[in-house]
Amino acid sequence: MSTISQILSDSIRDVPDFPKPGILFKDISTILSSPELLRHSVNELTATAGGEKIDKVVGIDARGFIFAAPVALNLDAGFVPIRKQGKLPWQTHSMAYSLEYGENVVEIHQDAILPGERVLLVDDLLATGGTAAAAVKLIHQLDAELVAASFLIELSDLNGRELLGNTIVNAVVRY
Ligand code: AMP
Repeated sequence: MSTISQILSDSIRDVPDFPKPGILFKDISTILSSPELLRHSVNELTATAGGEKIDKVVGIDARGFIFAAPVALNLDAGFVPIRKQGKLPWQTHSMAYSLEYGENVVEIHQDAILPGERVLLVDDLLATGGTAAAAVKLIHQLDAELVAASFLIELSDLNGRELLGNTIVNAVVRY
């Protein structure tokens, strides 16, 4: 891991048994409250685009939004939210998925990404990959080109990458 990744890794707080027994929650509030660590996180996530032209940065509800919007500004791209069911006001596509602790449905506005636009997907954490896989399906449903998926944290043991098929997956901090 790079020095910055190590500093970020050391800053993330482990909270056992949240929100359910057996889940070790990775609490990023310790990063968000530091301007230096927040800036490093956003810049590392931006770098995962590898200098590629990006039209839209898609963030996943809710912690993904925190990082995806500043990454979008860094890349001179637009920001598009994928939200939990019932939150988006316009016409949506929906996708059901299971996550480490429950079941959910995510949605995207049908006109949020134009066909052929180049997309970077951003979320705070890749666990089982169910959430990100649903997001990838929604992006493909809009005929966009998914350049890469970038996560601040990857829980490697859960093999979330496998659910993402041939998507390029980057993570700043791996456990
Ligand atoms: P998954 O669909 O299993 O990859 O779960 C990823 C989503 O659930 C991310 O949006 C995370 O915010 C959240 N999440 C899952 N597991 C954890 C964890 N151990 N600590 C913090 N957030 C988690």
